[in-house]
Amino acid sequence: MSVLVLGGAGYIGSHMVATLLAAKRDVVVVDNLLTGHRSSVPEGVPFYEVDIRDKAALTEVFEKEHIDQVVHFAASSIVPESVEQPLKYFNNNVYGMINLLEVMLDFDVKQIVFSSTAATYGVAKENPIKETTPQNPINPYGESKLQMEHIMKWADQAYGLKWVALRYFNVAGAKTDGSIGEDHPTETHLVPIILQTALGKREKIMMFGDDYNTPDGFNVRDYVHVMDLADAHVLALDYLAKGNDSNQFNLGSANGFSVKQMVEAAREATGKEIPAEIGPRRAGDPDSLVASSAKAREVLGWEPKYDDVKEIIRTAWNWLQKHPNGYEDR
Ligand code: UDP
Repeated sequence: MSVLVLGGAGYIGSHMVATLLAAKRDVVVVDNLLTGHRSSVPEGVPFYEVDIRDKAALTEVFEKEHIDQVVHFAASSIVPESVEQPLKYFNNNVYGMINLLEVMLDFDVKQIVFSSTAATYGVAKENPIKETTPQNPINPYGESKLQMEHIMKWADQAYGLKWVALRYFNVAGAKTDGSIGEDHPTETHLVPIILQTALGKREKIMMFGDDYNTPDGFNVRDYVHVMDLADAHVLALDYLAKGNDSNQFNLGSANGFSVKQMVEAAREATGKEIPAEIGPRRAGDPDSLVASSAKAREVLGWEPKYDDVKEIIRTAWNWLQKHPNGYEDR
């Protein structure tokens, strides 16, 4: 019984692999290494450097390995980049999903846990956001992930493919031992940028916009720890293995923090000054994205362990202090 982790050398994927191994599951990793790191995948785990759009190569993986379930992280995920290069997002994410599902069905593999996103909700009509809140993405990244959800829905209807979409809010933090963490070729995410500033690798953090419709004017997001997120994926795999129906769940903490509050929390967590400046708004950013994860708690039995944003930041800080240059330092 093997779980295929697509994108298993990436930030969230590598934490998923670690969690599956700790749970004594057999794991196979596929990653094209465009943004992932080979050294984040432990030795002994079967690894294939394959792009999910390459059908022949993906088919070979399914021929060689006995795959029972799939977890799919292999997608482009940077909001501003998606605004500038929408076709890249539809090609990699949407076409990649079609290709993957075709290969899965060729091998009669019919269970997939999929990393969806809060960005599918766009400017949400209600906060906290529930799974029933209408999805109206305002950037190509969110749109591509929503299309991927829809593709799975129709594949379920036609072929009985069972799927769980986990709609992540803002993922942050690292494995507590600091052995793996977040390291993107071009960093755009708030927490690593704040911490690189704390480390002196950046002069300052630019806070994008102070005129949003939020209590302090800064964008509000809901930060969830990457290991809690990985736990939810294992629960979702087990949910599917038990023969349950396709479903979707928000994964967040129900607590919103503004960009300014995050900088302040990081100052406390690190004891560093962290110079910050206010800059213009970034394209494609909704005011506020906060999750209700009540459904994941009730149906999956998910119990996130990190409810303090400073703790989340501390784990990311631990990784960065041990690896100031990311995976280059491993
Ligand atoms: N952000 C910021 N400065 C940065 C990077 C991000 O102010 O250098 C803000 C961004 O506008 C958003 C929040 O931090 O409100 C989280 O952005 P991130 O890119 O980490 O995740 P996203 O919400 O886009 O998935």
